[in-house]
Amino acid sequence: MASGSLTPRQQALHEITQRHFRTPEAYRADAGTPPSQLYGTNTFGARQMRDKLPKEVYAKLLAAVRLGKKLDLEIAPTVAQVIKEWAVSRGVSHFCHWFQPQTGSTAEKHDAFLNFDENKLPVEQFTGEQLIQSEPDASSFPSGGLRATWEARGYTAWNPASPVFILESGGTKTLCIPSVFIGYNGEALDEMTPLLRSSDVLSAKARELLALIGDQGVLRVTTTLGPEQEYFLIDRAHFALRPDLVMAGRTLVGAPPPRGQQLEDHYFGGIPERVQACIAEVEYELFKLGVPIVTRHNEVAPCQFEMAPIFEETDIAVDHNQLVMAMLRRVALRHGLQALLHEKPFAGVNGSGKHCNWSMSVVSDNELDGANLLKPGKTPHQNVRFLLFLAAVLKGVHTHAGLLRSGIGTSGNEHRLGANEAPPAIISVFMGDLLTRVIDDIAAGKTGAQGAAEALIGLGVNKLPDISRDNTDRNRTSPFAFTGAKFEFRAVGSSQSIAFPVMLLNACVAGAIGTLTRELTAELKKTKSVDDAALKVVRKAFRETSAVRFEGNNYSEAWVKEAARRGLLNLRRTPEALAQLVTPESHALLTGLGILTREELESRYHVRLERYVKDMLIEMHTLEQMAGTLVLPAALGYASGLAAAAANAKAGGIKVAPQAAEANRVGAEVAALVAARDGLRGAIEKAEGMHDALERQARFLTTRGADAMAAVRSASDALELGIGDGAWPLPRYREMLFPV
Ligand code: ADP
Ligand code: MG
Repeated sequence: MASGSLTPRQQALHEITQRHFRTPEAYRADAGTPPSQLYGTNTFGARQMRDKLPKEVYAKLLAAVRLGKKLDLEIAPTVAQVIKEWAVSRGVSHFCHWFQPQTGSTAEKHDAFLNFDENKLPVEQFTGEQLIQSEPDASSFPSGGLRATWEARGYTAWNPASPVFILESGGTKTLCIPSVFIGYNGEALDEMTPLLRSSDVLSAKARELLALIGDQGVLRVTTTLGPEQEYFLIDRAHFALRPDLVMAGRTLVGAPPPRGQQLEDHYFGGIPERVQACIAEVEYELFKLGVPIVTRHNEVAPCQFEMAPIFEETDIAVDHNQLVMAMLRRVALRHGLQALLHEKPFAGVNGSGKHCNWSMSVVSDNELDGANLLKPGKTPHQNVRFLLFLAAVLKGVHTHAGLLRSGIGTSGNEHRLGANEAPPAIISVFMGDLLTRVIDDIAAGKTGAQGAAEALIGLGVNKLPDISRDNTDRNRTSPFAFTGAKFEFRAVGSSQSIAFPVMLLNACVAGAIGTLTRELTAELKKTKSVDDAALKVVRKAFRETSAVRFEGNNYSEAWVKEAARRGLLNLRRTPEALAQLVTPESHALLTGLGILTREELESRYHVRLERYVKDMLIEMHTLEQMAGTLVLPAALGYASGLAAAAANAKAGGIKVAPQAAEANRVGAEVAALVAARDGLRGAIEKAEGMHDALERQARFLTTRGADAMAAVRSASDALELGIGDGAWPLPRYREMLFPV
């Protein structure tokens, strides 16, 4: 559109899209610096601490970091001093506790390194107390009722396992201190606290099992996590003109373009130059923050991309994924682009997920250090250990599939799960050919010569084709797949904080490890051979969990039927998925393991359900406004032109005048839109009238609410293709997804 024809508001929007921060000078100056040299330059982690801290202070800190121990408060002033010197030498003026309230993103409140000494002279100050604790005004964060009944105050506390880092933004530098956020009675108000608890619990349970099978000297078992982040990048000028993208992160109307992803030409295709420049700059910022991003590629849908790190300890990987999402959003603006992290920004093309690659790894002072418990080894004993932990994962997922489903239940992910394009809402596990044979053999009691199980257990993996190679032809349709030495939880949504789903996964597996440990203890009373006893326990677990294993096409209708026959849950809508959080089984697991109290668990259910309702209502209001203020006026304007043309033709005695028929067609389409819009209005009113009954409201929104939105969308999409191009007020899919 020529700028002369823009309304003043459109003109302002246009100018705003041009008014973004440019790439910082430092980036240009650093051009060509290898990632290894940039890596971690804006973090203060174990290496720098070792160089700067007195030996005994460092030893105490390291114990806190490596073994998940509580920080010794006496060392805080020394650590704070060293961190401050480092930060100030790098031009940092402020610090903040950086934490993850239950909003899905992060929060921070900045304070300057400033105080006054006894002579009232200004000094740079950062105390031990300031490092380890801060008291933000907590009352405005979601608490799901936790603090209505308890104390209203909360505080943040440094999580020393995650390195402090300098966030550069708009030419300023802020020291960020990764923290947990808790109430004064110790209740978890954030996403991080339960995750850390779940890591501790899993570690304790795994150590117990390892000790029982004779693997001594294990200090800790950590879980490892490599989240693959999918996202879209579109032009910011288009974004600014779409109220739905701005308000809800996804398009609520939009007719499908003639070409979507059917040519399959985008996946792993060449990355467009403009996007490449943006991604490289995101990576640059992330390298400095010590986020080990290594992989970048195009994804299946046009304008969709993926970024993946080298896996790290889970507690750190979760922080890093938050930084990845924040940097994608921030740096995209510098390039006139908008990063869309929503699970389904565009109907009809692929949505975005966040595959969470997950495993368990040993920390010890002996030869076990670094051992991946989900990787077969060279000796029969190592392979029995592998099978035990594999059985624990299968058992955890099988027993608590509903709970795992609840952890990924959001309004955005609802458009992926259950639709025929993404891991489905039915949680099942894919194992690959070889392991399936091993598991089936063991379950059937066939561990004798020649079988796959004997090959794995007796001979060791080096006598077997590589398990990870076996998986190269993997089944991409499974929500939870073994992909060689790790599981990949694929049903997680692209925009969500992974702290919650991973905490639940840790909990499910920790619970199952506990069960297997009890069973093994009983077996060991009957037999002397640890491996024999372990195999017995493994066999039982493989038998009990066979229903959750599925190697076929998870997108097929046949699977939906088969899963029902097997008694697996198929929870397509978010409210029913979230309800799984508060079943007696989920309560027993999470409170039993000490990961969440009853109140904390209830509050999470409440926060998540409330968030779902809010998301839905925001979408419905946005759509209702777009229908009434953009689509309808455009269509009426076009219709009135047609009516005038028809009248003119009639007055002029023109015999062939399709104008009238066209005007009637558009009129009918407009009538359909008006009816659907009114239906949507009614649904909004009805839903808002139910604000006292959250669950009823959620159920209404997920059925009648979603239907009302779908009706408006279909009427609007018909008009988008039914009126003149010049009259259509919104950027089209074609324009957003296929940049010229
Ligand atoms: P795939 O081909 O299965 O996608 P990649 O090697 O590309 O496997 O890894 C995908 C992600 O999985 C990466 O982020 C990688 O670091 C991570 N990953 C690999 N091994 C592990 C592990 N043991 N634990 C957690 N994540 C892992
Ligand atoms: Mg992968």
